[in-house]
Amino acid sequence: MPNHLFRAVRERTRGRDSHVFLETPPGRRWTYADMMAHSARIAGALVGLGVGPGDRVAVQVEKSPEALMLYLGAVRAGAIFLPLNAAYTVAELDYFLTDAEPRIVVCDPSLRDALSPVAVKAGVRAVETLGADGSGTLMDRAAAFGDRFEDVARGAKDLAAILYTSGTTGRSKGAMLSHGNLVSNAEVLVDFWRFSREDVLLHALPIYHTHGLFVAVNVMLFCGGTILFLPRFDAGECLAALPRATTMMGVPTFYTRLLRHPGLTREASAHIRLFVSGSAPLLADTHREWRARTGHAILERYGMTETNMMTSNPYDGDRIAGTVGFPLPGISIRIADPETGRVLGQDEIGVIEVAGPNVFEGYWRNPEKTAAEFRPDGFFVTGDLGKIDARGYVHIIGRAKDLIITGGLNVYPKEVETEIDALPGVVECAVVGVPHADFGEAVIAVVVPAAGSSLDENAVLAALETRLAKFKWPKRVIFVADLPRNTMGKVQKNILRETYEDLFAGPARN
Ligand code: AMP
Repeated sequence: MPNHLFRAVRERTRGRDSHVFLETPPGRRWTYADMMAHSARIAGALVGLGVGPGDRVAVQVEKSPEALMLYLGAVRAGAIFLPLNAAYTVAELDYFLTDAEPRIVVCDPSLRDALSPVAVKAGVRAVETLGADGSGTLMDRAAAFGDRFEDVARGAKDLAAILYTSGTTGRSKGAMLSHGNLVSNAEVLVDFWRFSREDVLLHALPIYHTHGLFVAVNVMLFCGGTILFLPRFDAGECLAALPRATTMMGVPTFYTRLLRHPGLTREASAHIRLFVSGSAPLLADTHREWRARTGHAILERYGMTETNMMTSNPYDGDRIAGTVGFPLPGISIRIADPETGRVLGQDEIGVIEVAGPNVFEGYWRNPEKTAAEFRPDGFFVTGDLGKIDARGYVHIIGRAKDLIITGGLNVYPKEVETEIDALPGVVECAVVGVPHADFGEAVIAVVVPAAGSSLDENAVLAALETRLAKFKWPKRVIFVADLPRNTMGKVQKNILRETYEDLFAGPARN
């Protein structure tokens, strides 16, 4: 049996040896032959450290080309790659290492001393280091191994990676992704988004998350193109690299920040054939402004750690702002009643459910949670609320857990947010529910006003009067400079709920 994922990479990149796989802005380059040799040496080092098939290799390092080679080396060694956000503290790592029980941990050299006791407690065999500049004990070891490696056999159902979900509610869970999940999704995306060997992808995403790792990197490995690899997102550096790229994948924050930069012009993006956005909702205004400034319609798609990519706006045809497009080929999407699971019809709002070769194998060592999230017929319950319109476009209404129940009535935050976002003087807003003695939950709106806007609470409420039923009106409108967001651009509604949880505490507030 071959190594399912890496065999696909080999087949798809055959004849590309001298072609550039990855390039960094200072001009460091790795050809496809270099990628093969480098990942072979790392795979050799991992096996030398006792990593066997199915062992977890936990990695908490800064983004670097070597970190990407480590992903490939781990796959080739038959291990399960387990990337962790570099921002996690040692206390947080304690949980991940205890839960995942990795054979080895690779961390930044500066963290080795702090992390070692936690790793020892979790039974980790070795703590290796890898710095942002590619130095460290792992690469020292790898240097002693040859640039050929016989990939360890792994089938489609075997795990290639565990990615911990961001865990905005409760503990984060390890999503088990198989070789088959990753191969099927990369194949579909290459075809659907028309990736070819000529493509050069601007990569400014983190590589511990499904977007930057699997969507961006696997797609490029499967088309044999070139990655322009930036250490992080910076609007100026992105614009400097844009003329050399043919495509860019980003979270909505990338697009809003680039729009604020005077360097974003039609000329600057003339060489690009495709801008893709995902991981969080792209505001319809951003879509429109981007089109006006650059002439490009951003293609919005929808996915999650557990499911890889599920839907996409079309390559040809209308890319409709505020929708995430159609189910990708081979993937089934339906809308169901969250409680009963009854499948709903066109335009009815319910929970989005998905089935297909993209859907993960379950949560690591958590059969109860896994069972709770799958329907008996195999569909995975995403926890996102949405609807499918008459043309078949999927619309996301928000997370089911963000639904507000006030006085027994359901309020979908998105509906209120859309109305407030449309008001002059509003940049964006987030609507959440907070505890309220009478109503159970009260609707509140947290609004980011445009610079110089004189909008106040009364003006917002007055504007909503004729637009929304009274029970949906916010009981408070709070103005802030920015909404709290995580690195993937997602608004952290849990933080807003915590910040304002006492808003209605105390006597007689309405
Ligand atoms: P993650 O597992 O971190 O990738 O987060 C997945 C979640 O991000 C989904 O369940 C959605 O709630 C959200 N998401 C991803 N893409 C989009 C999108 N295009 N529009 C709105 N929400 C999105």
